[in-house]
Amino acid sequence: MATAVKTAVKYVYSFGPDGTDGEAKMRDLLGGKGANLAEMTKIGLPVPAGFTIGTNVCNYYYAHDKSYPTELKELVSAAMAKIEQEMGAKFGSTTNPLLVSCRSGARDSMPGMMDTVLNIGLNDQTVDALAKQSGNERFAWDSYRRFVQMYGDVVLDMKPKTKEDHDPFEELLHAKKEKAGVKLDTELSAPQLKELVAEFKKAIKEGTGKQFPDDPMQQVWGAIGAVFGSWMNDRAVVYRRTYGIPHEWGTAVNVQAMVFGNLGDDCATGVAMTRDVALGAPGLNGDYLINAQGEDVVAGIRTPKRIEETLAKDMPASHKELTEIGQKLEKHYKDVQDIEFTVQRGRVWMLQTRNAKRTGFAAVRIAVDFVNEKLITKQEALQARRIPADDLNQLLQPLYDPKSKQKALKEGRMLAKGINAGPGAASGKICFHASDAEAAWLKDKNVELILVRRETSPEDLRGMKIAKGILTAFGGASSHAALVSRQMGKACIVGCGDLDIDYRAGTMTVGSTVLRVGDDISIDGFTGEVFKGDVEERPSEILQVLLDKTLKPEESEVYGRFQQLMGWVDENRKLKVRTNADEPKQAQEAIAFGAEGIGLCRTEHMFFDHIDDFRQMILAETLEGREVALAKLLPFQSEDFAGLFQAMNGRPVTIRLLDPPLHEFLPHQPAEQAELAKKIGVSAEVIARRVAELHEFNPMLGHRGCRLGIVYPEITRMQARAIFEAACQVQKSGIKVAVEVMVPLVGFAAEFKDQEAIIRETATKVFGEQKVKVEYLVGTMVEVPRACACAESVAERAEFFSFGTNDLTQTTLGMSRDDYAGYINHYREHDIVPNDPFQTIDIDGVGALMKIAVAGGRKARPNLKIGICGEHGGDPASVHFCHAIGLDYVSCSPFRVPIARLAAAQAAVAGK
Ligand code: PEP
Ligand code: MG
Repeated sequence: MATAVKTAVKYVYSFGPDGTDGEAKMRDLLGGKGANLAEMTKIGLPVPAGFTIGTNVCNYYYAHDKSYPTELKELVSAAMAKIEQEMGAKFGSTTNPLLVSCRSGARDSMPGMMDTVLNIGLNDQTVDALAKQSGNERFAWDSYRRFVQMYGDVVLDMKPKTKEDHDPFEELLHAKKEKAGVKLDTELSAPQLKELVAEFKKAIKEGTGKQFPDDPMQQVWGAIGAVFGSWMNDRAVVYRRTYGIPHEWGTAVNVQAMVFGNLGDDCATGVAMTRDVALGAPGLNGDYLINAQGEDVVAGIRTPKRIEETLAKDMPASHKELTEIGQKLEKHYKDVQDIEFTVQRGRVWMLQTRNAKRTGFAAVRIAVDFVNEKLITKQEALQARRIPADDLNQLLQPLYDPKSKQKALKEGRMLAKGINAGPGAASGKICFHASDAEAAWLKDKNVELILVRRETSPEDLRGMKIAKGILTAFGGASSHAALVSRQMGKACIVGCGDLDIDYRAGTMTVGSTVLRVGDDISIDGFTGEVFKGDVEERPSEILQVLLDKTLKPEESEVYGRFQQLMGWVDENRKLKVRTNADEPKQAQEAIAFGAEGIGLCRTEHMFFDHIDDFRQMILAETLEGREVALAKLLPFQSEDFAGLFQAMNGRPVTIRLLDPPLHEFLPHQPAEQAELAKKIGVSAEVIARRVAELHEFNPMLGHRGCRLGIVYPEITRMQARAIFEAACQVQKSGIKVAVEVMVPLVGFAAEFKDQEAIIRETATKVFGEQKVKVEYLVGTMVEVPRACACAESVAERAEFFSFGTNDLTQTTLGMSRDDYAGYINHYREHDIVPNDPFQTIDIDGVGALMKIAVAGGRKARPNLKIGICGEHGGDPASVHFCHAIGLDYVSCSPFRVPIARLAAAQAAVAGK
């Protein structure tokens, strides 16, 4: 019998002046914060001693009915003793007390989503010791007051849940300030704070039936449990779902000695970025507050000072040290860092470092600058974590039209100016509560709202996602509102102190102007200006250079860097990127964005301009009748195809034969039917009868796709003729043409063979008539499971495949692409599906079929060209999958082409 080998699982990792047993690489186990605290210790930066309880304990906790491994108690006690020894203070001591903080730390940062408890270790005895030791009684009682409040909110769950709930701590604090005749928390005296502590404890007893725990170790365990518990709170779950963070990762817990930024005017606390994260300019910048605790900066309750403006004057030595630390960290991590620090009596302590979140603008600038500064390689610059491909959208976002803005200024509509925290222009209706934004969105998915708040908190996340822009009266560039909006790529202004917001009255007052909920407002997140009413938006600089040609490339730095980056993108990607376009204008736009061909031209879209002739064709009851109508359509189709071939100038153009159910094009109302009857010279009864005949119970699975061309070969014949006549004509004019004719909705090889024969026969005929030959391919869409299963036999004749993942998803999942909205949100919220399957390929299901199709197709035809033209072709995660399974190209809407290019390059460099 084999002897069981007992492998010791390590749960607790220490760090501090004496060294550490963790490091940055151990992020999965220690979480981002814990791993980086260990790493900063390792590279010699000043970090207060502490320990990290691993994510493995979080997973244990949830797998074992919210309990801990038995040995954890002892491990935590030992690690606490180590902190005491390194910091030269004792937990619970009545002469030299140690205080600790307890914070969450997931593998990927989830700013503000989980809980934190500070000042753990204070009770009625240690508070006196802290007062004596710091020589500052007020500070000691203020710390104690904050601790009891935080413990009540976080550990004892007394935080208000809705806007109607009352907040006993805030109310008591407010009452105390009123009684004392003061405005600010900082104006309360030690005895007043002492009274507050007693009142808070009473409120805890009344609210929870529990006594506030005086035992410091009991306090630590309460805080640890609250932090692990907060992994599953609603806002954290929503955040993970939004950013694709798996619930199984779990959070670590960091317990660390407290250092104080609120002992006096030689103390400070702050949050800094080693470069600007809104637009990407170099230089340490951020927020700090003298004589304050860290939460004051992040909560956005006091408007902080700017590091780049005044810290060098206020604290020259600390500013110099922080600048050097910032440079050391950038070099070490090869990325812009977001750091938290405290200056305690002139001594700098590092409390956190992490790769900074940034806007799409900043992401591009920082990546390009880092390469130019030789900090990273071009391939590293392309990493998805540096520039999430979707964030390029922000560079393609509207700015305010200068004339309209000038007009608003002249009319005196500029109300106030705040801190420009998130670039972009946004106009919409004022909304004061996240819950109201959600309610409005449920009624109308296109609502345009600006969320106006005194400050935001993580509870507002859902509302922020809905709002077009965010405006807050308080807070600095690293407040919650600023961080979250930037990450979402939303226009955001914070710290707009002139706003007087009255939630109860539903008003926002600036001087004598009163705006109400529902009034129009415009915010310029680039400049921080707030306008009354609407200001017209205009396209981004990139769009102005590439599409409108209203800006010269050399006049736009944003464009210059974008272009440089896209050059590296194209050097690295393997996948080609095409576009879905049916009009020459769309095709030209897509080329400007870098498209290398048309992956899908939906020919039915071309009939919208000739709808009556098309309807005549559908309504015809005989072959002759259909041929009369088709003959009328032929010249239009041919002209449209010629336009596309000219615009694409030799790049491949995939034209799909008619696909959708015919009845979609028919008039269903009697008045419309009568009008059409007159136009095409038949009776209204005939039309009504034909419409009824063509009715299908399930049109998506009805007489559509190649089934149309098989039953009515004259339609395929007309379309093939239009394609080849246009191709011959354009080629004769000296422009190269590369045609790919695509048969839709094929499931049987015989279906393809039937249509292919008509196409080739028509091509031969047209080439004979035109006395010229054009190169062409005939291929198929792969959009039903049968085509995947039988790909080998289909590929015996088909010269290319293009995955129609819209229909393939619909037919594989048995979910109607038009009717899934009613339940998909519920599915997402309950983690039944990881993504919206119509946006991101369902890799396990649809993806598995795609792999079968690729293998089968290439078995019959090793060089088979394979692409994708469903909506997923512009979704970064789906593009990664397409790269992984060896497709040749993706095709997406014109504005997504740059995103698909970047995603393709990221997929390629990720594999290196
Ligand atoms: C598809 O099904 O993915 C596709 C591209 O075709 P359509 O959306 O036109 O059905
Ligand atoms: Mg389709």
